[in-house]
Amino acid sequence: MNINLDIEKILVSEEAIVQRCKVLAKQISEDYEDKKPILICPLKGAVSFFAHLCEQMTIPMVYDFIKASSYAGTQSTGIVNISYMPTTPLKDRHVIIVEDIIDTGRTLSAVVEELKKEGPASIELACLLDKPSMRKVPLEAKYTGFVIPNEFVVGFGLDYNEEYRNLPYVGVLKPEVYTK
Ligand code: 5GP
Ligand code: MG
Repeated sequence: MNINLDIEKILVSEEAIVQRCKVLAKQISEDYEDKKPILICPLKGAVSFFAHLCEQMTIPMVYDFIKASSYAGTQSTGIVNISYMPTTPLKDRHVIIVEDIIDTGRTLSAVVEELKKEGPASIELACLLDKPSMRKVPLEAKYTGFVIPNEFVVGFGLDYNEEYRNLPYVGVLKPEVYTK
């Protein structure tokens, strides 16, 4: 069994992602020179993007994690639960939340509100993928990898029922996978 065979089409190739991570990391490194930002990775979907992005950063920085969830299967529940908070003090620090995908925006806006309570100097968002047509709450990332159409995607950290996160690209599953 090879998980690549479950993919109907590749939306964003591995090469394109790697290249885009380099460009975004360069931009962030320039914008945050001398600011020693805290990059925060929402688990688990953002892990691949986060690692690629951080590896390409050239300025002093620290990183931490947060765990928030709103999804079961392919349907948004609209309920956001935060089960892990960063342990790094965020007070007066410049925070960048590095997310895999912004869909309705509900998860990330809940995360932003939670982190604001810690009194950071600033909070900005970086996302690998953006589905602007799905937005339910106003939210804009300062750094965006790719704008994609409203399709359920997997790979490069994104899952379907916890699987497919390890694919090195972003793709769409074959319809029969959902009825397995
Ligand atoms: P939002 O709160 O913006 O609707 O949802 C954001 C979260 O939903 C993402 O962090 C991700 O975990 C999940 N999500 C949204 N769209 C997709 C998608 O197309 N594929 C996968 N695998 N997860 C998605
Ligand atoms: Mg996520």
